Amino acid sequence: DRKRVALIFGGQSSEHGISCLTASSVLKAIDKDRFEVVGVGITKNGTWEQVPLEVIENYAIVDGVAPEVEEAPHEAVWMVGENGCEVATREGETLVDIHGVDVAFALLHGPYGEDGTIQGLFEMMGIRYVGSGVTASAIGMDKHFMKVAFEAAGLPVYPYVAASALRLEQDRDAVLAEINKLTYPLFVKPARGGSSIGISRVSDPSELEAAIAEAQKFDPKIVVEQGLVGARELECAVLGNPESPLGCDASVIGEIRVLAADGFYDYESKYFDEDGAALDAPADISPELSERLRELAKRSFVAVDAEGLVRSDFFVSGDEIYINEVNTMPGFTQISMFPTLWQEGGMSYADLVGRLIDLALERPVGLR
Ligand code: ATP
Ligand code: MG
Ligand code: MG
Ligand code: MG
Repeated sequence: DRKRVALIFGGQSSEHGISCLTASSVLKAIDKDRFEVVGVGITKNGTWEQVPLEVIENYAIVDGVAPEVEEAPHEAVWMVGENGCEVATREGETLVDIHGVDVAFALLHGPYGEDGTIQGLFEMMGIRYVGSGVTASAIGMDKHFMKVAFEAAGLPVYPYVAASALRLEQDRDAVLAEINKLTYPLFVKPARGGSSIGISRVSDPSELEAAIAEAQKFDPKIVVEQGLVGARELECAVLGNPESPLGCDASVIGEIRVLAADGFYDYESKYFDEDGAALDAPADISPELSERLRELAKRSFVAVDAEGLVRSDFFVSGDEIYINEVNTMPGFTQISMFPTLWQEGGMSYADLVGRLIDLALERPVGLR
């Protein structure tokens, strides 16, 4: 009596390739006695394809190039029905049939995946899914509204300015004046993104315009943050667990140590440059700091109304702690921080995958 799991990966965001790597990791580890997997790839253009499991298992970075769901030469149409959906060609040939799946596991990062859009589709279809719902996913993806939610919950947020495309166009001087009240260096970011894509560290006002243009390649809306200098980057994995007092449990704390001088944890150092950054799990910090961070991480989970999982990222400078962000679908390959932190706590990668699916299966369908 195996449960059918739709493993959905790839997607239209700039984190497509990373998502494919995650799918490969999850597929290799998933308990095949408990779960039957349907591989559903979303191409960079947004077409859905059923992908053979052997293909997914073989996804890897080759010569510095991340894998990709192969584009197919057809135009697909959607048929969303009760308890599932079908994607077919206009001629009626079925491409993906996810009727009768027990749970959807969308291993998608970034817009059109981690941002509530696909979660809305699952809600419409009435199927269970791993992770946060529509609202939490959308808030967790938008670095502006995420900070608003953190501030409302009394979590420590470092100074920032958020600007929509419209404000940047119509009120540019006012926005720039506001930004220049922040102390340099600044971090200029696409409001909705991930894997550090589109983010620049700006140490001089002369570099600001170029950084805004770069961020806007990925999102018309941007967030500019005051940069912390010399702060430690500490992360905590949170797992939704209705039996816990706050509805979640926090892992041990991990640390990202950026090795490049003057660098930050950018896309290259995350996935491609082995000498770019080191991950320490557990982090070499005091039990008191660890406990404070675990508490803040659980509060951040509640602040955005998350379910299932988040990874909460912090900056710590002396006695001061600031929350940078949460990710509702954090990096999830075997070597990623989120599973590594649970492994430190005694939960294997395979058990973690099973636990996340169980959490989704336990959850009722519909508004909660
Ligand atoms: P991901 O979702 O992959 O964790 P992201 O694209 O959401 O990444 P952030 O985590 O916001 O991006 O930032 C990426 C990195 O940039 C951080 O890990 C950190 O190294 C650096 N960074 C971001 N904001 C700041 C800041 N305000 N001060 C100092 N460093 C920063
Ligand atoms: Mg992020
Ligand atoms: Mg992310
Ligand atoms: Mg981050």
